[in-house]
Amino acid sequence: MPVRRVILPVELSTGHPGEGGGAFFLVYKKHSQEKRFLLGKYLNNIWQAGLDMLFPPPPLCRVCGRKLVLRTRIELCQRCLEKLPLVGESYCRQCGRPVAAGKEPLCFDCRSIRHFFVSNRAVGIYSGILKEQIYEVKYRYNRQLGIGLGQVMALVAKARGWIPPSAHLLAVPLHPQRLRQRGYNQAELLIRGMQDCVQVPALKPGVVVRREVTQASSSLTPLERRANLRGAFYVPRPGQVVGKVLCVVDDIYTTGATLDELARTLLQAGAKAVYGLTLSIAVDDYDLVGFEL
Ligand SMILES: [Zn+2]
Ligand SMILES: [Zn+2]
Repeated sequence: MPVRRVILPVELSTGHPGEGGGAFFLVYKKHSQEKRFLLGKYLNNIWQAGLDMLFPPPPLCRVCGRKLVLRTRIELCQRCLEKLPLVGESYCRQCGRPVAAGKEPLCFDCRSIRHFFVSNRAVGIYSGILKEQIYEVKYRYNRQLGIGLGQVMALVAKARGWIPPSAHLLAVPLHPQRLRQRGYNQAELLIRGMQDCVQVPALKPGVVVRREVTQASSSLTPLERRANLRGAFYVPRPGQVVGKVLCVVDDIYTTGATLDELARTLLQAGAKAVYGLTLSIAVDDYDLVGFEL
């Protein structure tokens, strides 16, 4: 009698024939294997987290992904740090905007407008990787990077003598609505980073307050922007600024309208003098004729 080969379904062929529950057993076994696998994976993750705490993996550069040699909040490798477009020696003595060497000491803007602030200094030019980093801090909620950029700001400003003597730092307040959306003020992160590197006091948030915005300023001309900002700030307790030299910190200087209105308000409240220090500054093509970035 020829032997008929019966090909059994895989589940049954390795099950417990005769017990009638082979398939069930195997399914159960399969699930228990999965559970064991998941449990193993879970334990492995805990083990890895423990190892990471004891021996943290090297952080990666936020721009190029290279391993960082030093663990700093800046999270940029040496090469990318060197690529930050810093403002050179040739800049407007009033607002800090880069100007072509050998030209007027003031930029086009500062020759036509009288500012309320004594002077502003900008660490870098709002372009390239600095622009990307600022975007990351403001719109991708990267607070640590904001603190790191504040450290860069402090080191550059200190080396160049840009922090006015006996000054108190003060963050440009955000619109209350923007603050609610973002959850933090990037200028305050910059100040926190600065204070890691230099000993300079800062006034607490709330010393100067920004009123709710009435009209978006991006669609306005520079003059309309200035008029729109009039009365945008107020100092609830002027005693906190009376007689003080203030250095207003912000992430970007564009037309200077914000810094001017803030300076006007602070001077009116009794501040002795108002300076500005910004992480970046927008360049004006007119001032850069003959200038090499
Ligand atoms: Zn890098
Ligand atoms: Zn200027």
